[in-house]
Amino acid sequence: MITSSEPNIAAVTLPKITVPTHPLWPELTAARRRELRAEIKRLLQERDAVLVAHYYTSGDIQELAEETGGCVADSLEMARFAAAHPATTLVVAGVRFMGETSKILNNEKTVLMPAPTATCSLDEYCPAALFTAFCDRHPDHTVVVYANTSAAVKARADWMVTSGIALPVIRHLAAKGEKIIWAPDKHLGSYVAAASGADMILWPGTCVVHDEFRGEAMQRMRAAHPAAAVLVHPESPAEVVVQADVVGSTTAMIQAVRELPNKEFIVATDAGIFHKMRQLAPDKILMEAPAVGIGGDCQSCAHCPWMEMNSLTNLLEALRSGENEIQVASELAAKARRPIERMLDFARRMKG
Ligand code: SF4
Repeated sequence: MITSSEPNIAAVTLPKITVPTHPLWPELTAARRRELRAEIKRLLQERDAVLVAHYYTSGDIQELAEETGGCVADSLEMARFAAAHPATTLVVAGVRFMGETSKILNNEKTVLMPAPTATCSLDEYCPAALFTAFCDRHPDHTVVVYANTSAAVKARADWMVTSGIALPVIRHLAAKGEKIIWAPDKHLGSYVAAASGADMILWPGTCVVHDEFRGEAMQRMRAAHPAAAVLVHPESPAEVVVQADVVGSTTAMIQAVRELPNKEFIVATDAGIFHKMRQLAPDKILMEAPAVGIGGDCQSCAHCPWMEMNSLTNLLEALRSGENEIQVASELAAKARRPIERMLDFARRMKG
């Protein structure tokens, strides 16, 4: 049940961040794309490498991952898959924290990224020094951080969670009477605090994609499409979340498109997810949820500019050169591994 209590936001001043403009990749001919894909497949084999891609990367990258025995998933499944796969090299198509998480869980493996400078606004809004100092001022709180954080922030945490498992973990901690510091996404934190009744202090970070979805515009869109089911990722503002038929992780949203009887869907998350939804439910009609300034001054325009930094060209280059390797110092990795393994153990017990 969602309660209406006001979220308790941490009184900290966030750093100013720079959101890049969407990269302008040159249009590739079909023949060139085939060439690039063939060469990437060859190099994956030659390097004993597996491609692990996020749902928000391009259709080309997602298809390659699936055709070569890799995976396309949300960050929880990416971490699980990478930990279980025997390949000696992991190629992580996504943003920096995903590569770092793979390295933390697989310190003996080589982790390459097509776009290692691709970051995430949530990660940027939560610098380790500021966060650590805040946690040190609240020693009686359990520290729960979202996956979208640096290795140094994870190392300060008791738990790491992804959107798919955040609510069960917070309910588990609330049932034990624990007070919680949640970072860095205030919207997701506010959603799980309301749904669980947990005593939480929320870090005020936001995702540049989900933070731009708007409640009033959503109301108008729902009125125009009354038969559409509304799917909302909980990194979106509460004014959007309250209008959802389904609130959930990317995986839960994909499942909803497959399983709900509706023909039309309004989808409030990164538009990259449409590729997988169309693959699995080609007869459904998918519409982007309305965001602030779409077609005008939006920053993300419903697509993450950092995720978009991954391309076939830089994926091939990473494999060819072996550069863009992600490194996490082993002492830091050992500390950051504890909250991740706690989540993975919890997920296993839940499935269990
Ligand atoms: S979509 Fe949002 S949460 Fe995901 S990587 Fe981009 S900025 Fe971060």
